Amino acid sequence: MENTVKANDCSCPSCGAAMRYRPEIAKLFCENCQTSKDILCEALTQKHDYSDMEKHSKKTRDWQEETKNLKCPNCGANVVLNKLQYSSSCPYCESNLVSSDKQDESIAPDGIIPFLFSDQDASKKYVEGLKKKWFLPNKFKKSPPVESIHGVYVPIFGFDSQTTSRYVGRLAKDHTTTNSKGERRTYTTYQNISGVHNSNQRDVLVETSSKLNQNQFAQIQPYYMQKAVQFKQGFIMGYTVEHYQNTVAECKKVAEQIMMENIKREILSRYHYDRVVSFDMSTAYTNQKYMYYLVPVYKCDYKFKEKTYTTFMNGQTGKVGGGVPRSGVKIFFFVLMWVLIIAGIIVISILTQGD
Ligand SMILES: [Zn+2]
Ligand SMILES: [Zn+2]
Repeated sequence: MENTVKANDCSCPSCGAAMRYRPEIAKLFCENCQTSKDILCEALTQKHDYSDMEKHSKKTRDWQEETKNLKCPNCGANVVLNKLQYSSSCPYCESNLVSSDKQDESIAPDGIIPFLFSDQDASKKYVEGLKKKWFLPNKFKKSPPVESIHGVYVPIFGFDSQTTSRYVGRLAKDHTTTNSKGERRTYTTYQNISGVHNSNQRDVLVETSSKLNQNQFAQIQPYYMQKAVQFKQGFIMGYTVEHYQNTVAECKKVAEQIMMENIKREILSRYHYDRVVSFDMSTAYTNQKYMYYLVPVYKCDYKFKEKTYTTFMNGQTGKVGGGVPRSGVKIFFFVLMWVLIIAGIIVISILTQGD
């Protein structure tokens, strides 16, 4: 069935083998005959209007023709591979992938941040990243036992919107005065606030991976989205791509939640207060746009004291996320130190008040 695969620009021009993307040279590379080939990098075009789901565009048809959707029978990950790639194992649990029934359900990615460094560099950066973590067991910190490092492109949607919010609220501020006898008194003043706030929310990112949750994703952010380029098949050669788990509409709800938090922060930053007594806001969203991106993530697995740990790393910046072993002894002494410091402060303030 060779002729069903289009003369694809990911096959080697001299020997015809499937090429792989090599981040360290930012080119496609043929392991068979050592030929390398450039990928044309193009700037990102306009974002999509929310109403236009891009299901039937030419780009989406090409994407569906050039890729196959696979599913992991063990952990349920949905994975996309280029048709030139040989059957692959699941990037999350290494089981063999099987064909998925979602064959033509996927829309094409718009943008991609290519991997910036290779697996070998990822292992080095991983060890460096761990040195910045607190409470790691010493033995682990000295030589982290990396079992495997695997690059996956994780799907995310980026949302833009102009917003107009009407808000009302009540803020409290505490004050302390000392009278002529040296007695301290605290009192609270209140301020009613209301108004209209306009904001321009840009590239609010929502992960839509089935394996990486929003919290794990937050730990490896930021991604520098200005480095994203137009998606090309070449960038995913040799890597796995995870299919988006939630639809654009579902992710838009999450994005609006994040935007609401951002807007609330913007509004409150204009006031001086200690506590928010009440805050109500209604927001209208206009000019809503979205873009579908793939971002690079390295998944690192290792065993320590019979336990398996998984950590994720940003494939653009090398930032290492959570999921590392903690030293109970170090945490105990850290907490003890703070308890002693706070107890000390209390004792000193009681002693000085007696003066
Ligand atoms: Zn070749
Ligand atoms: Zn799996």
